[in-house]
Amino acid sequence: MFVTAIIAAGGRGLRLGGDRPKQLLEVGGRTILERSVSAFLAHDAVSEVIVALPAEMVDERLPYLMSAAKPIRVVTGGARRQDSVANAVRAASDASELVVIHDAARPFASADLISRTIAAAAEAGAALAALGARDTVKQTDPSRRGAAIVSGTLPRETIFLAQTPQAFRKDVLDAALALGASGSVEATDEASLAERAGHTVRLVEGEATNIKITTAEDLVIAEAIARRAPPRTGRAGTGYDLHRLVEGRPLILGGVHVPSDRGALGHSDADVVCHAITDAVLGAACLGDIGLHFPDHDARWKDSSSVDLLTRAVALVKAQGLEVGNVDVTVILEAPKIRPYIAAMRARVASAIGIDVDRVSIKGKTNEGVDAIGRGEAIAAHAVALIRTASHR
Ligand code: MG
Repeated sequence: MFVTAIIAAGGRGLRLGGDRPKQLLEVGGRTILERSVSAFLAHDAVSEVIVALPAEMVDERLPYLMSAAKPIRVVTGGARRQDSVANAVRAASDASELVVIHDAARPFASADLISRTIAAAAEAGAALAALGARDTVKQTDPSRRGAAIVSGTLPRETIFLAQTPQAFRKDVLDAALALGASGSVEATDEASLAERAGHTVRLVEGEATNIKITTAEDLVIAEAIARRAPPRTGRAGTGYDLHRLVEGRPLILGGVHVPSDRGALGHSDADVVCHAITDAVLGAACLGDIGLHFPDHDARWKDSSSVDLLTRAVALVKAQGLEVGNVDVTVILEAPKIRPYIAAMRARVASAIGIDVDRVSIKGKTNEGVDAIGRGEAIAAHAVALIRTASHR
């Protein structure tokens, strides 16, 4: 489906004061206009973008309105919002089947909200984002202007506050705009024109953060929204370790002493579980490996506990604003059976990382007598760690 996005930025935003048009004020380091336009330029469902600007801004050649991966055009806004939209619709491609209209003054509409509004309009003919009233809604008597006397209380569950985006099948929007152009109807949004033209208009649940920036107070709120943490994205890392098994060494796994006639040979306590997890955690954060941070030749780490090295590695990851989600480890050795020690190992590793024990998995495996591990000459471990943006960021 060919979808035209119209960004209505025709107003001059005089209410905010100052000599800069409100669309060109910055929130979180980007102008309000750029944020609104980018939300639609970046959206997969949008085929072209048309921006209606005040006449004096049309020739400014703003870089984010110039080059784009999809067609973008600038038109001059009209005296009223509906005139701006009508100008923009005239500039739409002949192929346009659905038009989604958005106020430039709402820079935080999410991609999901845009998708849902477009989908609802494709089905119903017209749809708009709207937020259910959260407060009790009082009505006053318009004939007693200035008196502010309550004349009634409206049932809150029936009240929705219109936002944008508002989306329309092209034929529905043409009918709505024709009604607006007849001059008899003044409307503050296109959805009300579509209603009056007799079309079904569906509500899509809006977003509290999809605010319209109108006052200086709104700018303060917008700065706070712009500073919100980005979505928490997960990052995976893998780790592997192997040590020779020799007589006369203790076998330490996950910080736990496992009784055995052989232990792992190594510079430190040769704990393959902690070493593999440490590499997985560092790898997920792209911070190198255990040898880089705790080299064998450095006397500081001689005889240091591998649990302690793991804790230090996690601290490095945390310093990047990341935290460990979970880890999963497979230990490969022929003997002894480690099952009786797994609960203690998980508890020790969980406390070293600082996560709940139910986010640490450790499994044992033999190598079925095959190769060096199978002959009992070595022990190995594989680990996977998931890390993510720390929740407090
Ligand atoms: Mg090692």
